[in-house]
Amino acid sequence: KDQDRIFNFAAGPATLPESVILKAQSELYNYHGSGMSIMEMSHRGKEFDAVIKRAESDLRLLLAVPDDYAVLFLQGGATTQFAAVPLNLCEPDDAADYIVTGSWGDKAFKEAQKFCKPNLIWSGKSDKYTKIPPFEGLEQNPNAKYLHICANETIHGVEFKNYPTPSNRDAILVADMSSNFCSKPVDVSKFGVIYAGAQKNVGPSGVTIVIVRKDLIGNAQPITPVMLDYKIHADSASLYNTPPCFTIYICGLVFEDLLEQGGLVEVEKKNAKKAGILYDAIDGSDGFYVCPVEKSVRSLMNVPFTLQKTDLEKKFIEEAAKEGMIQLKGHRSVGGVRASIYNAMPLAGVEKLVAFMKDFQARHL
Ligand code: PLP
Repeated sequence: KDQDRIFNFAAGPATLPESVILKAQSELYNYHGSGMSIMEMSHRGKEFDAVIKRAESDLRLLLAVPDDYAVLFLQGGATTQFAAVPLNLCEPDDAADYIVTGSWGDKAFKEAQKFCKPNLIWSGKSDKYTKIPPFEGLEQNPNAKYLHICANETIHGVEFKNYPTPSNRDAILVADMSSNFCSKPVDVSKFGVIYAGAQKNVGPSGVTIVIVRKDLIGNAQPITPVMLDYKIHADSASLYNTPPCFTIYICGLVFEDLLEQGGLVEVEKKNAKKAGILYDAIDGSDGFYVCPVEKSVRSLMNVPFTLQKTDLEKKFIEEAAKEGMIQLKGHRSVGGVRASIYNAMPLAGVEKLVAFMKDFQARHL
């Protein structure tokens, strides 16, 4: 065990549970007596077959995924799903509704314009993406095939605490859950499609998990590349082509770890506690630190804040890094500070950050 590990507040790729890293390290050279590493093995061999099946069944347990949903391990990042969603759910002339609460939702909306007729039914841009709209009164398109949200905006720190229902009975809710996937229980049956890049809460980069209701599969537009067609991947259990084997293996270890912690109810409690002490420190700083996000929709995962004296932000981030707390710089598009505190960020990391914030404030009044 290396005592030199630091507290990494990166937005993703992000910190992973230390126990997972150590287990992977112990299995890296000779996986289960096979004489090779998991990353050297055929994806069609018995070892990897067991790995991907276990990863899927553990994820199903964690999220209580109903049987009429497929779980896919895909490539191309969540960004590829911005195109795959309309390609799989729409004809080119079909409408789809988008609620845009931050930059990622906006990217999804723009990409969809190439493959269907998306409508922007609400945007938080004029409020600098600090809000989620009230659902009643949202005017949805009666013909929309789906309603798309980004469940947690990683850059702006805005998180849906409950979910809108598509007003059209045949439409489905689609959510980009990249940055709060497996951070809390979710009623999967409320969604038609959930997608998430792994590299925040559940693994290294390289795999995107798609949970899709089975009756929605099989209607892709004819131009859909095979790699984006949910049917191709569902029919071959995510082994149509060579999958990101090592990444899936690590995700499997993370799912095991989350189950050992008591599942997502327990994980959410820990996340709420960590986020609570950080937001309390910001709100209790007499305006020295400011979080612009409306309180009721603040993210448990990504905590953006600014310093009232903005010229001190660089110093804040540099001094924190010297004390072993890295990657606190806000996204280049918004600046300021952002602490990403995913599942694997220990409480001790947040406590250390809060102590540093108080000390820094005392030194710069
Ligand atoms: N959606 C959200 C909410 C994200 O945070 C990110 C990446 O950070 C993406 C989509 C894009 O994911 P990827 O880089 O895996 O394509």
